Amino acid sequence: LLVNSTSHIQFTNSTARELLKGRDLEGRTIIEAFLDENLAVALLKCIRTGKPVQKKVVLRPQSSPLGRSDKESSSAWMIEAAPHFTDDSELLTCVIIRNVTAEYEAEQIRQDFVANASHELRTPMAIIQGYLENLLDDDLLEEPVMSRRFLSVMQKHSNRISRIVEDMLAISKLESGADQTLKKAPFLLKDCVDDVVDRLSSLVTQNNVDLKVSIDPVDLTVVGDGFYLAQVLFNLVENALKENQAPGLKIDVTGKAEGQSIVITVSDNGRGIPSDALPYIFKRFYRVEKHHNNSEVKGTGLGLSIVKRAIEAHDGTITATSTPGVSTTFTITLPVVE
Ligand code: ATP
Ligand code: MG
Repeated sequence: LLVNSTSHIQFTNSTARELLKGRDLEGRTIIEAFLDENLAVALLKCIRTGKPVQKKVVLRPQSSPLGRSDKESSSAWMIEAAPHFTDDSELLTCVIIRNVTAEYEAEQIRQDFVANASHELRTPMAIIQGYLENLLDDDLLEEPVMSRRFLSVMQKHSNRISRIVEDMLAISKLESGADQTLKKAPFLLKDCVDDVVDRLSSLVTQNNVDLKVSIDPVDLTVVGDGFYLAQVLFNLVENALKENQAPGLKIDVTGKAEGQSIVITVSDNGRGIPSDALPYIFKRFYRVEKHHNNSEVKGTGLGLSIVKRAIEAHDGTITATSTPGVSTTFTITLPVVE
């Protein structure tokens, strides 16, 4: 936009007109054009002082540069204004408005991640420190039974810290150029599933779970990173086992070719995921039940976000549906790679 010294808009380019919803802006004042005063104030300051300004403005949902919009999330705008002399040396203010919502959202995600990660690490850290203090202060080291018990609690929580750190590293690896991280090669889906089931077999027998695997055709071949895809299946089957301790659990793992895709499902008949929680389960650190006491160390809530990133790194998709108590199904679709 070009704005004159009485803050009337003199010129708009086509992008500006589109952004400001095609309203006839030329001849209007800044205040009239930008219904949100946060935006107008920065511009008026530049006009008044003749000095360039740069300001980032975050508008709440339903605000847009021109007032209400239907957007459901906040939007971010970078406003830059600087004096500009026309050919006949009239002093105008040149205003550039950039939509920086994508950068803003990325930054927001990063901040949430750091906040969540520190929060998750702080709990086991505090527990370890507490036990250490007790051991050192109260001459507990003289009592082998007690100190052993303390040490084993500390070990459990330090294992948890390692898990969180490893998971975070896996996520950041997958996010920074997934293509280089993945070592893609053809492998039999059946072998991968069998390996996962094998690793979880003690839980399966212990809880008397009816676990069925059906891969059709049996020699269905996937081209991808076998390590990550095994991690994916491991987490899905582990979730189904871990979330459902009640007897009568059935878990089905299926794989089949469908046109140009390979479709893999993991379903269980357990307690399921309430529909209001379903949109969040792939988010980092999200767990439906957040509270866990110290004796019972639950998951980190990073599993499904690693799953999602690993699948996306294979150009695939993953979705979840759940009817609590009836059926909860995770469906992975991978493109067939020639
Ligand atoms: P981690 O996998 O890092 O050890 P986690 O299993 O708690 O921890 P995710 O795998 O990301 O984390 O799962 C997120 C949450 O989704 C779980 O805490 C659980 O509440 C819910 N969930 C996932 N799968 C199922 C399932 N099959 N049945 C019921 N709830 C599930
Ligand atoms: Mg999990």
